[in-house]
Amino acid sequence: VRGIDHLRDPRLNKGMAFTLEERQRLGIHGLLPPRFKTQEQQVALCMRNVARYDENLNKYIYLMGLQDRNERLFYRLLAENVEQMMPLVYTPTVGLACQKFGLIYRRDRGLFISIHDKGHIYEILKNWPEQDVRAIVVTDGERILGLGDLGAQGMGIPVGKLSLYTALAGIKPSQCLPITLDVGTNNQSLLDDEDYIGLRHKRVTGAEYDDFIDEFMQAVVKRYGQNTLIQVRAVVVIKQGEFEDFGNHNAFRFLEKYRNKYCTFNDDIQGTASVAVGGMLAAMRKLKTKLSEHTFLFLGAGEAALGIAGLCVMAMMKEGLSSEEAHKRIFMIDSRGLIVKNRPAGGVVGHKVEFAQDMPPMKEIAEVVDRPVVTGAAAQSGAFTPEILKKMGEINKEPIIFALSNPTSKAECTAQQAYEATEGRAIFASGSPFDPVTINGKTLYPGQGNNAYIFPGVSLGVICTGMHHISEEVFLYSAEALSEMVTDEDLAQGRLYPPLSSIQEVSIKIAVQLAEHAYKTGVASLYPEPKDKAAFIRAQLYDYHYTSPLCATWEWRSPEDHNGAV
Ligand code: NAP
Ligand code: MN
Repeated sequence: VRGIDHLRDPRLNKGMAFTLEERQRLGIHGLLPPRFKTQEQQVALCMRNVARYDENLNKYIYLMGLQDRNERLFYRLLAENVEQMMPLVYTPTVGLACQKFGLIYRRDRGLFISIHDKGHIYEILKNWPEQDVRAIVVTDGERILGLGDLGAQGMGIPVGKLSLYTALAGIKPSQCLPITLDVGTNNQSLLDDEDYIGLRHKRVTGAEYDDFIDEFMQAVVKRYGQNTLIQVRAVVVIKQGEFEDFGNHNAFRFLEKYRNKYCTFNDDIQGTASVAVGGMLAAMRKLKTKLSEHTFLFLGAGEAALGIAGLCVMAMMKEGLSSEEAHKRIFMIDSRGLIVKNRPAGGVVGHKVEFAQDMPPMKEIAEVVDRPVVTGAAAQSGAFTPEILKKMGEINKEPIIFALSNPTSKAECTAQQAYEATEGRAIFASGSPFDPVTINGKTLYPGQGNNAYIFPGVSLGVICTGMHHISEEVFLYSAEALSEMVTDEDLAQGRLYPPLSSIQEVSIKIAVQLAEHAYKTGVASLYPEPKDKAAFIRAQLYDYHYTSPLCATWEWRSPEDHNGAV
């Protein structure tokens, strides 16, 4: 490394935080202004820069520039200002960034693997300069957030998500690899867009697509799989991949196809389930009841709702119910009404089958609302009407209402509406953030069931223990860990989740819980088993504080001293 590389390489760069000695010894003195800054001062400067931009997209561009320039500073800024920065580097701003990705593209970040590279995926993976990748987030861009098919411009998602892996769970940036698989796009406006960065044709589907994904999975294992022998301990490095924002039809299919063969999870399905059930468990703490004492009504039966319902079943079975008893407590409504066994024409298919009730068909949600817990994940804004909310308030002393659809404009109801219709008695959580609501002189803080409470911690636990395989229980343990982080004070204020500012502690707690479970059940591959799991995990976290680039020096006797020395 030459001196100048310490300024040009974002991993090494410290800007004006280089000391005089460092500047002189590295040969970069004079290349920086004669001012010396602390990293704290730099963070404060970044905050002021972010504040100067009116548009969130511009704030995003600034932040990406910072990541390209000074990596530690970027992660410190994120980690210490989660509440403000997360909506910029991740949802909702990242959605906008994906739409404009071609326009705002600046420089390389992550891997693009296109269907034209079929047969050569391994060669492309070899081009990635890092040897010890532990976490891959991959998308094919077919269904980005609520925005639909964004093709290769979906890259913003893996990039943003992995920056949260580092900022929220301390996973080292060098161990994270964002990947976009470009198989084309069916989005005509992108195909016509002069700035579009991907292949200009319709999506390749069918066997050719499936083979491509298969090859990708195999190539990842070949490149980063069971590899290294580090020092004297045999460490099996298992890759951790996360499928993200693949189209709905493919998401469940891949999850099933690959989950037992590779170390994978789907945050849209399993992360959402975990964060929602975590909120429900917190609500149970507040009510001093068990999940199995309630029944659940879901509006929507897509990835999110089916994932939550499945995890609810698992949680109730852990409380002692049989699978049949647990399923009887779950009612789901899709676009055709209540999911029932004798549904005419087309019937009930796929994952919905297990939740089909033995009841007459009902079309309207209002007909079905005599169930204590309602969860909306159908992206139908306003679906929880004041009448429905009122009725919930009549049949329950403290009705539990989750309006999970994103973005805010799609929410089934607002926090204000839920509290107003129930005189402030509702236990409410949402997918998008809502401001606190004051009702009868009491201020209530609606919970935000953000998946970022879950996925970074799960990944940290998996990576630190070398789990080969992520079972469904992992998401129940995570939900439990999350709910335990909610204090009684939080609960009294209406919060079902800990404050975002403590999210790193949530991640560590989840990782520790997973580690305990991984060693107990024999799915950990990293041996010897660390005695103190928390200390072991904390010792591996990324440190965003600057270190000295200079090698240590010390006093030494001159060679002459040896002459005649004993
Ligand atoms: P999805 O897979 O497309 O599922 C949507 C479901 O809604 C489908 O089952 C659909 O019915 C149903 N639906 C559509 N219109 C309906 C209507 N008028 N009445 C009743 N049901 C209707 O979507 P998803 O991935 O599950 O996501 C759903 C929502 O959850 C999105 O807004 C997403 O942003 C949100 N979400 C939130 C979080 C979070 O808060 N942490 C996480 C993930 C997702 P059919 O099955 O009949 O088509
Ligand atoms: Mn998602």
